[in-house]
Amino acid sequence: MKEHQNEGNITPSLIFLETTVACDYSCRHCRANSQPFPSKDELSLEEFIDIIDQIHGIWGIRPTLVITGGNPLMRPDIRSIISYIRKKGFRFAFSPAASELLDDSFLKFLKNNRCSSLSLSLDGVSPETHDWVRRRDGSLALTLDLISRIRGAGLKLQINTAVMKKNLLELPAIASLIRDSGVSAWEVFFLINTGRGTSLEGVSPEEYMQVNYWLSELWRYGINVRTVEGPVFRIIEEIAEIQPSAVFGDTYQILSEKATSILEEYGPVTRRKKNTGIVSHGGTLFIGNNGAIYPSGLFKLRLGNLREESLKSIMERNAEFSSIFIREKLRGKCGICEFRYRCGGSRARALYSTGDAFGPDPLCLYIPRSTGSEIEIAVH
Ligand code: SF4
Repeated sequence: MKEHQNEGNITPSLIFLETTVACDYSCRHCRANSQPFPSKDELSLEEFIDIIDQIHGIWGIRPTLVITGGNPLMRPDIRSIISYIRKKGFRFAFSPAASELLDDSFLKFLKNNRCSSLSLSLDGVSPETHDWVRRRDGSLALTLDLISRIRGAGLKLQINTAVMKKNLLELPAIASLIRDSGVSAWEVFFLINTGRGTSLEGVSPEEYMQVNYWLSELWRYGINVRTVEGPVFRIIEEIAEIQPSAVFGDTYQILSEKATSILEEYGPVTRRKKNTGIVSHGGTLFIGNNGAIYPSGLFKLRLGNLREESLKSIMERNAEFSSIFIREKLRGKCGICEFRYRCGGSRARALYSTGDAFGPDPLCLYIPRSTGSEIEIAVH
């Protein structure tokens, strides 16, 4: 994710607005700890309008605003929030839960307001996986119906998938469904132990590296992949050349064979650019439903609260959490790695696994070239 310089500050490319934590679902990996009702201290419409004005005052309309939740459709005033975002001239993306509230009337409203992209979660192609993760029977069928209706309404659609042990071997089938459905991007999340995600088993370091390498090859089938909390994706092809043992193994082999048998009927495609996209803090900002502000939705390092302090003041006080400063401060093997400016490791994973936001990413198996025997490498 690109960042822009603005008088010495970083302009986030994406600012997430968590409009509510209310949601009909209680997914096993929910970072928001969603609940059936809004929290008592949820931001009002007037407060969101003020926050949108503050964003505009600092960065103009450069950031794209991503409306998320919970399920933002459970806010009765969601149309007013969107209308104000458009009135100010921002691009916006909409990230709802798959629910009956996303009806044709709302899809038309999004289309009329030039929603740049909708995103839906899909964590499996079987009810045994997807409905289990979502804790709701019928949710896979509802999601598949919505995918078709969203595309039918002429809206751009992104699919989000959280990678965990449970769905690891279903990834090729999800890729195939994405290829068949005209989805514009596949955003693949690597679990972080926050919210309800602590109850799920994430992938091992070996699986993390091999899945990233496998994902990097999907451009051959016309699938546009971005990773979240998988920054090694940006440089995984270089790692494959320098240290092949870090990316090749049984998991890669199985995924690769499954993908070939499912996707090869499409044949290879010619694209100008390979997959290297990542969504990383430094390029993002996350504003919680009560005004608390974080580098990203999974990197819950509280920078301040917009009810107590202006956005400008919070950003100035936390300049060290922009990506440039973070990379200067990295410790352990990420701190000496030649890829630290392009990868930098997952700061969220470092924080939750080691308690040190600047520490090494515990899922990365790459051994930096400059590693000496005096430096202790923490890979697990
Ligand atoms: S050591 Fe850190 S910066 Fe280097 S590739 Fe691994 S995660 Fe990325």
